Amino acid sequence: AIPPKPVTSFGHFGFDEPLMKAIRKSEFTQPTPIQAQGIPALLSGRDVIGIAKTGSGKTAAFLWPMLVHIMDQPRLSRGHGPIGLILVPTRELATQIYSEAKKFGKVYDLKVVCAYGGGSKWEQSKDFESGAEIAIATPGRMIDLIKMKVTNLERVTYLILDEADRMFDMGFETQVRSICDHVRPNRQCGLFSATFKKRIERLARDSLSDPIKIVQGSIGEASEDVKQIVKVMEVGGFKWNWLLNNLVEFTSTGSVLIFVTKKQNCEELAHNLHLKQIECRCIHGDLHQSERNEIIQKFKKKEFDILVATDVAARGLDISHIRTVVNFDVARDIDTHTHRVGRTGRAGIKGKAYTLITEKDKEFAGHIVRNLEAANQDVSKDLMDLAMK
Ligand code: ADP
Ligand code: MG
Repeated sequence: AIPPKPVTSFGHFGFDEPLMKAIRKSEFTQPTPIQAQGIPALLSGRDVIGIAKTGSGKTAAFLWPMLVHIMDQPRLSRGHGPIGLILVPTRELATQIYSEAKKFGKVYDLKVVCAYGGGSKWEQSKDFESGAEIAIATPGRMIDLIKMKVTNLERVTYLILDEADRMFDMGFETQVRSICDHVRPNRQCGLFSATFKKRIERLARDSLSDPIKIVQGSIGEASEDVKQIVKVMEVGGFKWNWLLNNLVEFTSTGSVLIFVTKKQNCEELAHNLHLKQIECRCIHGDLHQSERNEIIQKFKKKEFDILVATDVAARGLDISHIRTVVNFDVARDIDTHTHRVGRTGRAGIKGKAYTLITEKDKEFAGHIVRNLEAANQDVSKDLMDLAMK
């Protein structure tokens, strides 16, 4: 079958008035490209592969058609498992989509539940037990709840795998596949990812049927809305001095997200900034879920301007006022780098990403050069030299 034509305005999706009203309230003016193509495809009932850079509006692209799908199903009584299931890699992303889903699910009085590792199993169980139309979950926790017989996948007819590449990076492949295998084969399935590597391609082949593939930009490229500046530095205290000299200026344009590789570096950097009377918070995997949530909420509300983070915060986090990303330590791989950089430049607003790179990271320099070239960015001579070493 021929994929449906993309649309140019929200009005063309054919959504009913209550949903349109909620969309108007969100103050989006026009669909993003992935929405323009993805929404008609999903509304037509087809399986969809959506590959698009971060910040391109993938959430609404699968969420709104999910609502339409659910409203088209015969309404069973509560106390059943979800009809729409969204699998995500991290708790941060789960809670973020949860709030979007609640916002729009409210339109039809749909119940939305959310489960992730690290949250209280007992509380999540209670939520699932009383039934819901939409569930958002990390794969491991979803399987736990199914094993505990708190919920089941019998009603699932609309399945979304969000940030599939990240789920695989985090070692969820077996769990994702097991969930796909347990959802009835005639379900509709959407797979969203920023990159489309071999493993994802295989998953798509195994779990989707005759999908429409939507690729926006070349796969894995960095956003052109982010100006990337790579600083080649000598090993030693140079990174720290550079940060101190520039941080105030960065905060004058908006919030700043600083990435480091290790939990320990994260605490250390935040501590050193405090010693310099610079207010900041840090977030990493050792913090309790409740603490992490609280920090993210406060950062969202601009209660502080600088957040130091490990890659726990790298994907999916959507805070529109982040104007500067600093890769204080380079990322462990280029996809992680792309996702870090994608924390700014959301929805067309320009951002800047600084990457501090030293001799020790010369292996990575070549990847960065290609990444910059793909995103139409300048490559400095220093960086080119380091890449050639
Ligand atoms: P992705 O999942 O592709 O990284 P998100 O769905 O998180 O992107 O959306 C990124 C940001 O863009 C969010 O702040 C979201 O509210 C906003 N957004 C989504 N759709 C639109 C739109 N049509 N117009 C303007 N902003 C949008
Ligand atoms: Mg997303």
